[in-house]
Amino acid sequence: MKRKKKQKQNPVIVITLCAVLLALSVLLLLLMRAVLGGREIKPASCKPKEEGEIAVMTPAPTLLDLYAYFDWTETTAIKVYDHRADKLIDMDLEEYIVGVVSAEMPAYYDFEALKAQAVASRTYTLYSMAHGGCHTNPDADVCTNSKCCQAFSTHERMQNAWKNDYANNYNRVAQAVMGTAGEVLVYDGKLCDALYHACSGGQTEDSEHVYANALPYLRGVTSPYEDPMRTEDVALKTDALVELIAAKYPESGISESNVRDGIAIEKAYASGRVETLRLGKTTVTGKQARNLFGLRSTMFTVEWTGDGIVFHTKGYGHGVGLSQNGANGMAKHGSDYQEILLHYYTGVSIGVFGADGITERTAPAPQNTNAPFVPES
Ligand SMILES: [Zn+2]
Repeated sequence: MKRKKKQKQNPVIVITLCAVLLALSVLLLLLMRAVLGGREIKPASCKPKEEGEIAVMTPAPTLLDLYAYFDWTETTAIKVYDHRADKLIDMDLEEYIVGVVSAEMPAYYDFEALKAQAVASRTYTLYSMAHGGCHTNPDADVCTNSKCCQAFSTHERMQNAWKNDYANNYNRVAQAVMGTAGEVLVYDGKLCDALYHACSGGQTEDSEHVYANALPYLRGVTSPYEDPMRTEDVALKTDALVELIAAKYPESGISESNVRDGIAIEKAYASGRVETLRLGKTTVTGKQARNLFGLRSTMFTVEWTGDGIVFHTKGYGHGVGLSQNGANGMAKHGSDYQEILLHYYTGVSIGVFGADGITERTAPAPQNTNAPFVPES
């Protein structure tokens, strides 16, 4: 009887032993990998994230990982001034562009929009480098301050912003950047000043209406697929409005008694952006009005209410060049990144920047569609 009882317990013991052996094997494999320092690109986990799951912070991938994975050998060294850390960092162009696209466009935007952004940001960077580099940091080619050059995310900032989505988002952006590696916008054989903005409000703007130069590739075009929710109303009470105007433009003579007759849009561009706004005895540009009233764009109308004024704004940003929101809309309606770029930059072509200058792409762009790139852990 005792023997029989023992035989009944055997399967449990066997299963336990198997489990222990399996665990030991996995541990051994992990130990061997750690000791041998094996490097491999791991596919992204498809396991759905559980609520409350703790973010796994993967260390930053090295440039070697990124370039080797996409089989990309063209290097362009750039000096990036990190304005938050107050230090100059040596980087390579594509590595830098991954950080720029991460910061300048939401990672959830359509993949073709991310690729369009990568080409625009790369072109903007190389154009700046060819025209004296960063204006506020003479030692740097570019800086990370969006008010000066382009916004940029370090891996630490990406991790903080994306949390559990860090690996997947990084992968998405890296694929968009490396899938267009080296590609730039060219007009008349030269790099373009590839300006871009968040959202145009339906119509982009001629460059000379916002900046000094009239550039042939920065013409106002329609932007038909933008998110119509990108409108904002800014309401100001009469006393606050008068205070704001009087502090900045005392010569306007604006007071609470004359303000309602004193504010009027004098001239607007064909796009609908305000060219000039009358403030009593003074006239300001649309840009000055945008700054004064804290508006998202110069595409606005004014409406008086019982106790103040409302500025109804459309779009976000200066409105010149690529509309990021419009690019996302075009991508969702089936356009690829080249169609998007050729729409927003009039008359340009797409070339490849390299050691030999700008050439047409003869070989296909570097791609690796076998497995997503995930920063090595
Ligand atoms: Zn700068």
